[in-house]
Amino acid sequence: MAHQWRGVIREYFDRLDVTKDTPIITLGEGGTPLVEAPALAKLVGADRVLLKVEGMNPTGSFKDRGMTMAVSKAVGHGAKAVICASTGNTSASAAAYAAAAGIKSVVLIPEGKIALGKLSQAVAHKAQILQVQGNFDDCLILARDLAENYAVHLVNSVNPDRIEGQKTGAFEVVEALGFAPDLHVLPVGNAGNYSAYFKGYLEDFNAGTIKQVPKMWGYQAEGSAPFTVGHPVANPETIATAIRIGNPASWDLAQSARECSDGRFGAVTDAEILWMHRFLSQEVGVFVEPSSATGAAGLFKASKAGEVPAGSTIVVTVTGHGLKDAAWALKDEAGNQIEPQSVSKNAAEVAERLGLA
Ligand SMILES: *Cc1c(COP(=O)(O)O)cnc(C)c1O
Repeated sequence: MAHQWRGVIREYFDRLDVTKDTPIITLGEGGTPLVEAPALAKLVGADRVLLKVEGMNPTGSFKDRGMTMAVSKAVGHGAKAVICASTGNTSASAAAYAAAAGIKSVVLIPEGKIALGKLSQAVAHKAQILQVQGNFDDCLILARDLAENYAVHLVNSVNPDRIEGQKTGAFEVVEALGFAPDLHVLPVGNAGNYSAYFKGYLEDFNAGTIKQVPKMWGYQAEGSAPFTVGHPVANPETIATAIRIGNPASWDLAQSARECSDGRFGAVTDAEILWMHRFLSQEVGVFVEPSSATGAAGLFKASKAGEVPAGSTIVVTVTGHGLKDAAWALKDEAGNQIEPQSVSKNAAEVAERLGLA
């Protein structure tokens, strides 16, 4: 009989902060594929590069791993409503898990900076959506304020339950590979996921399951790179809206993860992100949203500087599905809109158009 994946809480019950009394709100998140990417390995001169394809989660991003924990615990505490600030994926996830739990969700999004696919998810799952006149960082301050003073439970990644759920990504990588990779590379916004993977690897290391914790390499977009400039950025700008964050909520956790893992933070341009977004679609066969290509773009940049150790095994988390922010795929390298060509029903003509004749 085929094994049905039961979601991260049931699969990792003993390794998460839950008890028999915790209600389990799950949509079957986790258990995502670790996909061999030979074209990317060749590009960066590594032995192996594998993509942890988080777009395969129920709402299309890794946020579901943390949201199953956060919403389950919130319901366990009697919450009737959850709130989050979001660049899009957190709200999609919060709305879906709240729907599954039969409670309300409130999402605060920055004005005009949310991808349509993600907004449609929050609407579909019947979240109460408010567009705040400010950026993500302003939305988070507001959400924290409301959660502190009103009967609504905060499910942003400042909630430790989120990090706790997201650490399962590292457990799955170790189980799939049988060892820890040399490097783990991923995009960084609030740095919750970066911190969560480190926590997961560290727990595996302390349990004696792996011999070393991978070096954690986190990449931001140049216009929104507080970790590389060393302080919060007031007006972050990038096309990679999921990581358009100037004041990362998990600043301290991420700094200690970087130090303990002998890792690094780096930044890439929007053009480098979009180039890698296209490369992953065209050469690897994995369609991700632009933000999600930021880790791989950083890895490529490092390889060009001769910084990728030969013979290494590298895991890159690609964080969200390409359909969430599909508009970018419909533009060519020069930024022009791509339209399918119209043809007649004549086979000879079609063959000629396709260059087959
Ligand atoms: C949330 C998100 C990120 C950033 O993750 P942090 O934990 O905020 O660093 C990156 N990519 C996608 C697609 C996301 O949804």
